Amino acid sequence: MVKNLSNRHLFLNYLGQTSKHPIALEIKKAKGIYLYTSKGKKYIDMVSGVCVNNFGHNHQKVVEAVVNQAKIHMHLMVYGEYIQQPQLQYAKTLVSLLPHNLESIYYVNSGSEAIEGAIKLAKRFTKRTEIIAFKNAYHGSTHGALSIGHENLKNTFRPLLPDVKLLEFNNRENILKVSKKTACVVVEPIQAEAGVILPEEDFLKDLSDRCKKTGTLFIFDEVQTGFGRCGTLFAFEQYEAAPDILVIAKAMGGGMPLGGFISSKNIMDSLAENPTAGHITTFGGHPVSCASAIAALNLLINTSILSKVKTKGDLIYNTLKNHPTVFQIRKTGLLLAVELKEKKLAAKAINALLEEGLVTDRFLFNDYAFRIAPPLTITKREIKTVCKKIIKALDALK
Ligand code: PMP
Repeated sequence: MVKNLSNRHLFLNYLGQTSKHPIALEIKKAKGIYLYTSKGKKYIDMVSGVCVNNFGHNHQKVVEAVVNQAKIHMHLMVYGEYIQQPQLQYAKTLVSLLPHNLESIYYVNSGSEAIEGAIKLAKRFTKRTEIIAFKNAYHGSTHGALSIGHENLKNTFRPLLPDVKLLEFNNRENILKVSKKTACVVVEPIQAEAGVILPEEDFLKDLSDRCKKTGTLFIFDEVQTGFGRCGTLFAFEQYEAAPDILVIAKAMGGGMPLGGFISSKNIMDSLAENPTAGHITTFGGHPVSCASAIAALNLLINTSILSKVKTKGDLIYNTLKNHPTVFQIRKTGLLLAVELKEKKLAAKAINALLEEGLVTDRFLFNDYAFRIAPPLTITKREIKTVCKKIIKALDALK
């Protein structure tokens, strides 16, 4: 019988672990940019649950929407069968904010599942099998998503998807490798887990042109960069390249699990025939998640939050960029990679920042940098306080 075991013990022994070194903060409650532990310590969340809590924790409007919808109904039927108000309302609002070809949304549960759905859609629509993606990308942890990402995570899981080509991001010569055999090109407009690698001028536009020329579907993975994180609703708006399929998740659900892929009706309809049920999901578009997503999207489009993202990111950048331990800061909106001069310093910095009451995070594929991605609602005054703490922690690094 299990008795008198600490929560830490239960966590480490009863839950499957993703690494040997989880942060293991025991959070009792969360509000705005703050996390409160069971030991009474207050932390500032500078990572937003990895680009999820763009509007801070427990925003009143989001919580109200969740509670109201839970009282009306929760799960009714597998995705795609019943007409459910929250799914319709969210789709109508989001589609009205997107280019005209992004008009039909397929709801799923997560970023990985959205990537799976998008790849399947491209294969079925084009009747081709080749998939082109980029080195150092992260698109998720399921077999298909794993197949099109960084090699580091693939060990012992092979064989993965066949007919995948991984090209160098930002290398223009590679673009000609997209051919009439290619079903889709999958790209993160900004490579997040590689340490916020921005696309060079016209790289995405040239890729987009090549996709048009070869009848290849251009898939944008905006799971991490979407919903205001980069200073616009989606990052693709900042480049002259429009996706055929847009993949979304994370901040979409306002803190509830939700993902989706969006395309033209013509392309999307191919999942429903030859044979039917091209992708099926029980919980995709859960009504409570969609209600939460509506509240979150309304915050983004009806407040001044989005218009202030860039200046807030600039403030962090300008305050930290000349610190002697900093090699380079790469940023877009409020997603920043602070790359330090020595590899061992990044892990040390994350621990030192935690001591200062700041939760930051590592990147999957860049050991030199740590991630700063606070809720977009963080104020300039809070940013100044945070930056003082970061400088103090970096000063003490040896
Ligand atoms: N794509 C990108 C760009 C991501 O950053 C992530 C998650 N970090 C995913 C896909 C996978 O999303 P999920 O964890 O919801 O499956």
